[in-house]
Amino acid sequence: GPGPLAALVGADLDIPVLGGGRVRHVNLDVAASAPAFTAVAERVARALPYYASVHRGTGYLSQASTAVVDDARVVIARHVGARIDDHVVVTRNTTDALNLLAAAVPGDTVVLDLEHHANLLPWTRRGRRVVVARGTLAATLDALAAELRRTPAALLSVTGASNLTGEVLPLEVLARLAHDHGARFAVDAAQLLPHRRIDLAASGIDYVAFSGHKAYAPFGAGALVGRGDWLDVAPPHLAGGGAVEAVAVDGAEWKRGPERHEAGTPNVIGVAAIAAALAELERLGEPALRAHEAALTGRLHEGLAAIPGVRVLRGFADVDDRLGIATVELERGSVGLVAAALAAEHGISVRAGRFCAHPFFDRIATRANGLRASVGAGTSADDVDRFLDALRRLVASGPAHVYDRTPAGWCP
Ligand code: PMP
Repeated sequence: GPGPLAALVGADLDIPVLGGGRVRHVNLDVAASAPAFTAVAERVARALPYYASVHRGTGYLSQASTAVVDDARVVIARHVGARIDDHVVVTRNTTDALNLLAAAVPGDTVVLDLEHHANLLPWTRRGRRVVVARGTLAATLDALAAELRRTPAALLSVTGASNLTGEVLPLEVLARLAHDHGARFAVDAAQLLPHRRIDLAASGIDYVAFSGHKAYAPFGAGALVGRGDWLDVAPPHLAGGGAVEAVAVDGAEWKRGPERHEAGTPNVIGVAAIAAALAELERLGEPALRAHEAALTGRLHEGLAAIPGVRVLRGFADVDDRLGIATVELERGSVGLVAAALAAEHGISVRAGRFCAHPFFDRIATRANGLRASVGAGTSADDVDRFLDALRRLVASGPAHVYDRTPAGWCP
């Protein structure tokens, strides 16, 4: 089976397990945060000495830092196929980017109920509309079209791929659907971008939001890329230095362009890391990445289907295209305890819960919580096999085994 496609920081960590001894850590929680490419760590190490404030200093280091941010904007724009007049706004993460967008939309927005909370709460707290997805994508597209026909909206905002099921949504189709009804189209690409190439200009996507930490870069930086007109007149996302042309005690003249929303000193290192991660994704190439992940995803799903008492969640009966994510529910026992035992006894990291997608989880699951395994460029077939083997044994031995061996307080 395939080995890792790319070198990641921390890929060869040996960690202690219950009962003594150490094992190589298996990270199957890359959908939450993907460890940095080693190429990214090297870029960060090179950028760190040039530590200075941006845009204001005249010194050499300040100019170097400024160039890092400006160059990264160009790399990001190119990577997502931005149009010439699109803005690249540097944000903290996807959540930050979508909150920024939500405050900038001059009208109503429609989202689906399958969204991560980051693409749900910024809208619902403003009273925006949620369409409940159906059991098929075809019926869901019909429902979206009907909703947009009944009451026009300024924006349709949809995830590129579900963080719960990994199911990939047809972005060009959704963009056309939105545009046909006079709306713009935004994509929450937190999950999609690290695994599939996104092209705003070619697909008609108006806005895309993503996070560095899911794309093999460290925490604390993300981006919103898209049409400048709404952003140029929107209330500044943050108020402070760098976002203004001129300030008086009784008012300010706000900049246009990305800086309008980026007050304060930016995450220079985080932005350099994102640019390096995107460059590494381009070097690996989407075809190689997809082939690698498709092999592991097939292995994961086939293995899970063969374990009695384990049910893989899916939202759409007619979507076969999915990222390397599988969320399961167990017929018996607690997924929280199984996840704890996977970590404590086997050195395997997964995630248990409802994955910040409560409405979607509650609609498609029959149990209170699920267990999610996710793979990426740094995952090997051996990682997947170790997980499947451990899960098979934990499920077969029943929850009593887990209760017996899990130290008190290990799991909430
Ligand atoms: N959208 C999706 C689909 C996600 O999976 C996540 C992260 N779990 C987010 C948004 C939020 O990303 P962040 O926490 O980096 O803002």
